[in-house]
This record gives sequence, C-alpha cells and structure tokens, in this order.
Amino acid sequence: MMQSFAKISDLRKVLKNERMNGKSISLVPTMGFLHEGHMSLIKEARKKNDIVVVSIFVNPTQFGPNEDLETYPRDLEKDSILCEKEGVDYIFNPTVNEMYLDDYATFVDTTSNITNRLCGASRDGHFRGVMSVVTKLFNIVNPDRAYFGRKDYQQVAVIKKMVNDLSFNVEIVDCEIVREEDGLALSSRNTYLTKEQRIDALVLSRSLKEAKEEILKGERNKEKIVNGILDKISKVTYSIVDYVEVLDAKTLEDIEEINRDVVIALAVNIGKPRLIDNIIVEV
Ligand code: AMP
Repeated sequence: MMQSFAKISDLRKVLKNERMNGKSISLVPTMGFLHEGHMSLIKEARKKNDIVVVSIFVNPTQFGPNEDLETYPRDLEKDSILCEKEGVDYIFNPTVNEMYLDDYATFVDTTSNITNRLCGASRDGHFRGVMSVVTKLFNIVNPDRAYFGRKDYQQVAVIKKMVNDLSFNVEIVDCEIVREEDGLALSSRNTYLTKEQRIDALVLSRSLKEAKEEILKGERNKEKIVNGILDKISKVTYSIVDYVEVLDAKTLEDIEEINRDVVIALAVNIGKPRLIDNIIVEV
C-alpha cells in the first residue's frame, strides 16, 4: 500500500526502517500534475530500486516574481492514483512551510558557466531555487538514485554538477523526453494551452527535428540553424521567443560552429505558458 507524507520527520521514520532492512531507495522529484513524462521516470525508478519515493512540491524558490507559481496546475488526488498504479511506495507532499520555515535563509548556488545561458539567463535565481530544493530533498530522502528528465536538459546538467561538486552520495539517472504522438513534449504547463495554441505549439518540436536533420545532412553554420528555427516559430500566431540556442551538449558552452555534439534548446511562450524543448545532435 502506498503511503503519503507531508511531514519530513514522518517520511524519514519509514525510510530509516526501509534502509535498515537493506532496501535501495530512489527519488523522483516533481512539482505534480503528473503526466507520462513523470511516469517514465517513475517506471525507470521502479525497475531498479526496492523503494520509490515521489516528491510532489511546487517549489516557490525556483519561480521568479512574475512567473506562474500561483496558477501552477495541481491535482494531488489524480497524482496519487497515478503513483499508486505505478507501484510508488511513498509520496512526499510537504507544505511550503514544512520545507521553508519562516526564518529560512540557506541556499545552494553555483558559479559554473552551466547556468549562464538558456533558462539560467532568463529566469534569475531559478537554478538556485532548484539546487536548494533538490539538496533538501536529497537530505530528507537520502536516495541511492534520483531520476530527472532530459526535457529539462540544463537542470540535469546543473544537478549532476552539484552532486559531483558537493559529493552527494546519489546516482543521478537522466531519462529521455516523452512526447505526444504529434511531437509535443509533455509538460504540466501544456494544460494552459488553448486548442489553437496547442496546434501552434507543435512548431517547437517540429523545428527542432528539422534543424537536427539539416545538421545531420551537413549544415555546420550555427546562425543558419538558429535563424531557421526562429523563422518557423515567428510564423505561428501565439509565439514569443525567449531563446533558441545551439550549445555544446556536454558543457552547455557557446560554440562557434557545429563541430561537436550539440544540444539545440529553446524556450518559447505560446500564449500563456512558457514551453521548453530540446534535441541532441551527435555529429
Ligand atoms: P516538473 O514536475 O515539471 O518539475 O518535472 C519533474 C521531472 O519530470 C523533471 O525531472 C522533468 O525533467 C521531468 N519531466 C517533465 N516532463 C517530462 C517529459 N516530457 N519527458 C521526460 N521527463 C519529463
């Protein structure tokens, strides 16, 4: 039987017991409103670990002042049913107060170039919030493995760097992007899209896929690739581009030309939601 906990101390108690019994423990951190993308992480965790913990916490410290913290979609009841079906052992669903006491004052940050670009550039303090909450979750759950999606490509890189730099005793497992049949990357924020915008949003995955094909056919000019994508996106009614970038897939550093494995990453507002997507191109 799956159990849900809102208190850190309660979750710690059961996990201490599991650990004493020699069980391996995994953590899948989420903000809830679960979809097949989240479920793919849970399935991977289920395959390899005795215990699967799913955290559901809309973390305020990773949202900027003008972002969608208040309206972020939530449905704990449905999330619980999905988790139970997938064989999750424990849900951790703390309140904001449980995670951040009134006098909370400690954050984890990085000086790495990994956060200079992409979402790090346009969402000030975002990765500081992510690193801090993931650190806290690691300290609460003490997992052997933690599962993250490549949909948030930069996030995985930031977490891996943090785990390495701070010697966290956890293996980070990154999982592939799950897409709708028509290509749209699954996201809790897709729920904000109107019917028309849902169609417009397809331009993101389509232009990434086409850019990849061009590179594989021999295109090495980064500007051409970026401009090609921008051109396609500008043709849909509801789009406002935050960024489209081609970066070194490993370091996330800027490149002159496409002469190594790259990630093409983009963030675009389609109506209300800011959607992100990316694709790896091995050259
Ligand atoms: P979120 O609830 O959006 O914070 O996401 C929780 C975890 O699920 C993160 O590690 C995400 O990268 C991952 N995730 C979200 N959407 C997808 C997707 N479409 N495919 C794979 N992983 C995803």
